Amino acid sequence: MVSTSTLCKNLLNVKNIIIEDVKLWSDKDAVRHLTIKATPHKRDQNRCPICGAKCPGYDTGRISRTWRALDFGGVIVQIVADTLRIECPRHGVHVASVPWAYPGSRFTKEFETSTAWLATQLNKSAVARYMRVSWDTVGKIISRVREDIEPNLNGRLDGLVEIGIDETSYRKGHKYITVVVNHATNTVVWAHEGHGKAILTLFMEKLSQQQRESIRVVTGDGARWITSCVKEYLPNCTRCIDAFHVVEWAMEALDKVRRQSWHEAKSVAEAYGKQRRGRPKVNDEKHAEFLAAKKHAQAIKGATYSLGKAPENLTTTQEAKLEMIQLSNNRLYRAYKLKEMLRLLLKMTDVEAAESELTRWVNWARHCRIPEFVELQRKIMRHKDHILNTIQLQVSNARVESTNNKIKLIIRRSFGFRNIQNMLDMVLLVCSNLNIPLPNRP
Ligand SMILES: [Zn+2]
Repeated sequence: MVSTSTLCKNLLNVKNIIIEDVKLWSDKDAVRHLTIKATPHKRDQNRCPICGAKCPGYDTGRISRTWRALDFGGVIVQIVADTLRIECPRHGVHVASVPWAYPGSRFTKEFETSTAWLATQLNKSAVARYMRVSWDTVGKIISRVREDIEPNLNGRLDGLVEIGIDETSYRKGHKYITVVVNHATNTVVWAHEGHGKAILTLFMEKLSQQQRESIRVVTGDGARWITSCVKEYLPNCTRCIDAFHVVEWAMEALDKVRRQSWHEAKSVAEAYGKQRRGRPKVNDEKHAEFLAAKKHAQAIKGATYSLGKAPENLTTTQEAKLEMIQLSNNRLYRAYKLKEMLRLLLKMTDVEAAESELTRWVNWARHCRIPEFVELQRKIMRHKDHILNTIQLQVSNARVESTNNKIKLIIRRSFGFRNIQNMLDMVLLVCSNLNIPLPNRP
């Protein structure tokens, strides 16, 4: 039979440890706890938590501390050990490190890596509830694990060729974070709070001359601060606009037209409704007109998906809605066709053909008598060169868009961390090739 000491050492997966005592007890809620009294081996005592060097003790007072380890079959496990303060010649006075935990943490390393792994996979309430810690604690854990797995983030900035710059808002658009993505690996290489030129300058300043020289393509939305920053720091680089941003502009314009059409159709239906008196008669023309107007208004109201999706992906109902709009609302249908033409020309591979198609589109939009699209046409003209660069260099739109959505999702999920750095570390941890080690896996 294995001894209690061997069993504890194996379950905790800490080698350089002396088990002094083990107690099993129940708290007032009848939750069972296992408290393991332990001491690090002599050679792991008195070590600086920053550099790991053996250091002289600072004072003789020992303080008993508790760390949470992973549960054993639902039983809450704690390690209790006496710690003392040491004085490192380089880092000053600190509490000596213990081999089972990251400096400053009250959890074991395995507890923290398991929590971080779960946080990258599950929603926040599931992680916090299962691990019995607050979501804010999960945030701190993520930062410690990220720091341990990848202490030198600068390595991510080497050998970049195509990068994407994106800003994402959270807290209802009151706060922003800016991320830089490596298109070749689909990983985030840099993330920072805030947006605008000052923030992007921080990234550019972080790059060495050699790192700047390897970058050939920068993509992003139409923001002027990206263009001016690229001109200043990466003069040999081609500036592109991610195609999905251009489609988004067209979708926004289209949705404005749709909302206006809906309001108009609704007031027509309401006007018919007011003219009606009593029950509808047989062959009541007015009533039939009222019903048709009402149906028309409803179709426009619920047509966001029919208008937004690619035609080949439409369901039969959505197709029917689109047909109804084609027959009854010329203006909205023209707006839809303008959006579709723009979306399709962005998929073209021959840049010359795309340019002449874009000229045709601009001419049509300029004379379409839909103010939203006349405005969009001006915006497209301002960004024409960058749009054509995107087509010429064939920057993969689908991949860039999916990375962008993934980042947005992570930010939404990490919402609630009090410390912004925890959120940035979550983005860096999830959008990377890093592997979070889980206990006792080969
Ligand atoms: Zn030190």
